[in-house]
Amino acid sequence: MSLDHNEIKNIVEEIVKKIAVDNYATKSASTGLNTGKVLGKGIFSNMEDAVNAAYYAQKDLIKLSVEKRKEIITEIRKIMLENAEKLSVEAIKETGIGRVKDRLLKTLLSINKTPGVEDIQSKVYTGDKGMTLEEYAPYGLIGAITPTTNPVESIINNSISMISAGNSVVFNTHPRAKNVSRKTIELINEAIISVGGPNNTVTTVAEPTIETGTFMMKHPKVKLITVTGGPGVVKAAFACGKKVIAAGPGNPPVVVDETADIKQAAKDIVDGASFDNNVLCIAEKEIIAVKEIYRELIDEMQKHGAVLVSSDVVAKLAQVALLPDGRVNSALVGKDAKFILSQIDMHVGDDIRLIMCETDRNHPFAVEELLMPIIPVIRADNVDEAIEMAYELEHNFFHTAMMHSKNVENLHKMARKSNVSIFVKNAPSYAGLGFNGEGVTTFTIASPTGEGITTAKTFTRMRRCVLAGYFRIV
Ligand code: NAD
Repeated sequence: MSLDHNEIKNIVEEIVKKIAVDNYATKSASTGLNTGKVLGKGIFSNMEDAVNAAYYAQKDLIKLSVEKRKEIITEIRKIMLENAEKLSVEAIKETGIGRVKDRLLKTLLSINKTPGVEDIQSKVYTGDKGMTLEEYAPYGLIGAITPTTNPVESIINNSISMISAGNSVVFNTHPRAKNVSRKTIELINEAIISVGGPNNTVTTVAEPTIETGTFMMKHPKVKLITVTGGPGVVKAAFACGKKVIAAGPGNPPVVVDETADIKQAAKDIVDGASFDNNVLCIAEKEIIAVKEIYRELIDEMQKHGAVLVSSDVVAKLAQVALLPDGRVNSALVGKDAKFILSQIDMHVGDDIRLIMCETDRNHPFAVEELLMPIIPVIRADNVDEAIEMAYELEHNFFHTAMMHSKNVENLHKMARKSNVSIFVKNAPSYAGLGFNGEGVTTFTIASPTGEGITTAKTFTRMRRCVLAGYFRIV
């Protein structure tokens, strides 16, 4: 029997792939892990194996038709919907962050409103000179790092976007959310395999650490890095010297001027700032209200589950919410308002979802991204001062800002000054993610690198193909 060149090439490729994926004793000094094992669908004991498995899976993924890719995405959504409640509860149990009811809504949002393959429609130009086609091609293997605040939602959102674009993904998930992240990744793989897609299209390690994350980002087979987290991981990704899509921290201000519908603004701010205990990076983190409506706004907010605390209580809260060195106390991130107040012996009912503190613009509660249901309320003399303070407190993250106003001039001024990726007017912050708002969703808002709302198209390389003279029919 004689084999032609292509048949030999295919056999060699298959063997190389098998060695990489099934290598049970891969040495990886950089990860500190010496024995490589496959521990589940897409779950590996070392990062080298997780990278290799996803790398080869992508080669199979791009051999499939676009119709098959659509089928894969539909099946991922279906299996995730079936498991949404269970995963949301488990995420909160494992991380100790957030509120179950809100978390489920976030998970459903990521499943239902992350765009799929339809996001990467090709473009064609025709004219006197012929035809030019622009197509969106995959990068190959993407290395993604996910946060503790939305572990399940980020993995679902990134997987749908990246796979729709023809990529595979190796995740390094947050160590404090590793079990629920692992389960999510296994379920996504099961969904893909069940409709004939490649095994290991998404992979991870069972024990993610900063070291496995660094190893992954630097791995030559990883063509694009996508990180979702705080300033540390963004900096680490940039240091790897390759293309990065970075979704970093925010500190979104909300400005309320004298023309706003105060009743509506008060309800919207409480709803947005207390949602999942304020862990969304886009959630209102400080309120800046002009003096004419300042008191009315606070009074109205108290009708919707916010409590105003005295300056003595603010001082005590600062002692528990911040560490002695001024950093945020991560033990209180994403905790219920009731629990946080109980830490200073103040007892409130379950109806209290948000703690309001009257502070000035320099208070650490305004300056730091707390990720807790504690919100400072700052008084401004006029709308121009309010917009200026909002700009300063956003720290040039270019992330998110909100405004409640009926004055188009003021809204325009704030939109231009803040120059953020998401600017929400007269609605809770989450409307900016398409939740009770128009537009698609994402859980990776890439402000530092400028992509903003990431979708499948974000994870593609644009390729142009030009044909001179022909295929012009007008
Ligand atoms: P985090 O920065 O502590 O962790 C995020 C991820 O990065 C984790 O997987 C962690 O293990 C990893 N990591 C951290 N430092 C690293 C380093 N030096 N090298 C390699 N990996 C590293 O953040 P978190 O507490 O999980 O999440 C909250 C933060 O994420 C907030 O700042 C929030 O604003 C931000 N966030 C942003 C978005 C967005 O879309 N822009 C979405 C969610 C969360």
